[in-house]
Amino acid sequence: MSGVRRFAPQPAGDFGWEGVDRLRYKEEGSAPFRDVTRQVLFAQPDQASELRYFEIAPGGHSTLERHEHTHAVLILRGRGSVRIGDDEFEIGAHDLVTIDPLAWHQFRADAGAALGFLCLVSRDRDRPQLPAADDLARLERAGRR
Ligand code: MN
Repeated sequence: MSGVRRFAPQPAGDFGWEGVDRLRYKEEGSAPFRDVTRQVLFAQPDQASELRYFEIAPGGHSTLERHEHTHAVLILRGRGSVRIGDDEFEIGAHDLVTIDPLAWHQFRADAGAALGFLCLVSRDRDRPQLPAADDLARLERAGRR
């Protein structure tokens, strides 16, 4: 639908847009993510891609996962870090992060700042894989370098 959806931040400053639902992920016992919301900004039948906005509350993190589909991630607000494979990078507003097929990845918000980003993905995409115990052990060793 053509038009302008006005930027409508929440009272606490979290990003939002008029008419866009803000979906909070459920947190259960061993949930592999913490304090993440998702908003679908653009999804149309004629487009092979979807544009979503994710926001991770201060100190929170996304799921450590990998999949065949790629991500283009543009940071819109805050500061944090991203793990990509065996590497970890500090990131902040306006940085562009790209994730290759089957690269392990996880986003973290700094303790004092939310991390908000646009994420472009394929509409038709494979389900994320979670790390098995041996993957985790290797990733943790790499993270301590
Ligand atoms: Mn992903």
